Formats: sequence, structure tokens, C-alpha cells
Amino acid sequence: MSASSLVGLPSNEPTTMITCTRRLEWDALHRIPKHESRCRAFHGHRYAAELTCAAERLDDLGRIIDFGVIKERVGAWIDAHWDHTAILMRGDPEAEALADANERLGKPVYWLDGHPTAEHIVEELARVSTELLKADGVRVIAVRLWETPNCSAEWVADGLPSLPSISLPSAALPSASLPSASLPSASLPPSNSDS
Ligand SMILES: [Zn+2]
Repeated sequence: MSASSLVGLPSNEPTTMITCTRRLEWDALHRIPKHESRCRAFHGHRYAAELTCAAERLDDLGRIIDFGVIKERVGAWIDAHWDHTAILMRGDPEAEALADANERLGKPVYWLDGHPTAEHIVEELARVSTELLKADGVRVIAVRLWETPNCSAEWVADGLPSLPSISLPSAALPSASLPSASLPSASLPPSNSDS
């Protein structure tokens, strides 16, 4: 096997890392209890996560994993636990009434041990999605969570080469297929006042 046929395996030899990325979106409410200003208040976001996966080898069809399987595994978990409910800090003194209501209404809130910042939520999604995709022989190597169109946090698996290897070399990727999120933010209209 030539080094260039390895998929997703960091090595000392020059290799090409092929990854695939699935975007998943949901609506949820949160608040940051000790935030210095308005993020202390309950408010909602259209969250978007980009899960980047790698595998030891491509399957017979030439895939790391079918994009639909990522949606079945991780998207279903998000729908069940995070969509149309709240992601809140355990022990949040303001959350009790809201939690009771959502429990009664069939959408229990999801509790995190820390403040539900984008960083903590992406860390939780990385943990969960790693477990959910393990049986498919897929390794989640990066997760980016967009809290607003302008603000995101990224989790990257330990032991990976530097970040640019997560993307294909730009020469190999038609620029038209680059996600708009990777464009410099200066070229995007200011669409959210959160940032
Ligand atoms: Zn927020």
C-alpha cells in the first residue's frame, strides 16, 4: 500500500488525509449565567455543527461513511436531546421553572456541567458523536460549532497533525465548493449582533 492511499492516519511519511464533513443544524435556547452582559438572559440560537470524520480506509464505494449515516446517528441524537429545547448549566438558579415546563411539554432540557458556551457544547458534541460513530469504524477528528453566522468554536482530536490537514489542499478543491463559512468574515454581511 502506498503512503498516499492511507486515509486519516497521521504518519511521518507524506500522506493525503481524506476527511468528510457533515453539517447538522438545530434550534435551542441557552444562557450563560455568569456572563458579563446580555448573554445572561435566556435566548436562542440556530446552532450548526460541522462534523469532520476520518477512517482507516475508504469503503468499497469510496466513502469514509455515508453522509446519511452521520445524520441517522448524530442527527437523531441532536433531534432527541438538543433540538427545540434548552442547553443549560446544571445548577443554574434561574432554570428550574423552565426545566419543569419543558419536562412537562416533552422536551426536557439538556444539562451541562459548565456554562453552555459554544466551546462546552462543541466539546460535548465531539464526545457524543465519537461514541455514536465508533461502531461504524469512523473517527471524529474535528467538530466546529456555529453559534451565530459569525461565531464558532472548534474541537480537534488529540494527536492530529496541524489544522490545515483537516481540509484537502486548496489546489485539489475547486474554490466554488468551499463552504462560505471559510471565507474571510469581512466578506460576509453582519447578520447577527451577538458578535
Ligand atoms: Zn447565546
